[in-house]
Amino acid sequence: MIIKILHLFPDLLNLYGDKGNIECLRKRLVWRGIDAEVASYTCEDGDFDLSDVDIVFIGGGSDREQKIVCNRLLEHKRELKDYVEDNGTLVAVCGGYQLLGRYYRLEGETISGLEILDIYTEQGKKRLIGNIVLESDFGKIVGFENHGGRTYIGNHKPLGRVLYGYGNDDDSGAEGVLYKNVVATYLHGPLFPKNPRLCDYVLTNALQRRYPDFTELSPLRDSLENTANEYIVKRFQK
Ligand code: GLN
Repeated sequence: MIIKILHLFPDLLNLYGDKGNIECLRKRLVWRGIDAEVASYTCEDGDFDLSDVDIVFIGGGSDREQKIVCNRLLEHKRELKDYVEDNGTLVAVCGGYQLLGRYYRLEGETISGLEILDIYTEQGKKRLIGNIVLESDFGKIVGFENHGGRTYIGNHKPLGRVLYGYGNDDDSGAEGVLYKNVVATYLHGPLFPKNPRLCDYVLTNALQRRYPDFTELSPLRDSLENTANEYIVKRFQK
């Protein structure tokens, strides 16, 4: 078995080392005897083809970088939308998350989004920075957020409910979005190393799409990962 991962714009959208999430996806496949192939698409490259891709990953970046990437991504709007509607697995973090929506409104300008999700983002006055803990279908999710944008997700299902931190808009208590096989979130950096159950959810979706008879991943001994996760939950949860 093999899973093919496409990392979009690692040169620009890699604010907190989101690349580590790719390594975690890869390693958790390899540990189960499943091959993983990782390809990158940067601004220097000509085109990308999603017909044989299992997981697309878009990381986070500054507003400036987001603008550059956005113009390139909009050229692939139809393709990315069709991929998601066809149950393609897509993970989008922070700036990448905002780009999945209708728009990201900044002071004096608006960045158009891919309209994959029926959400929108507006820049707020203060940046929302700090550790964050969520309640989710995958247990407690821990991470770090740093965003100026507030994202309004309408009727979409959130990834989790905020137990500590700000979340999508500093008000609703929702964080991220789960839509088909899309996981979109503001949680930066080592999202998957810190939250192995979420990582395995993403991998399982991708495997089930490529191999319809695939049922579930064999368990890994995640004692260190789980201890680290529980430590953070205890530290921040009131
Ligand atoms: N530029 C976006 C914001 O500040 C996203 C930042 C990020 O990816 N950390 O809201």
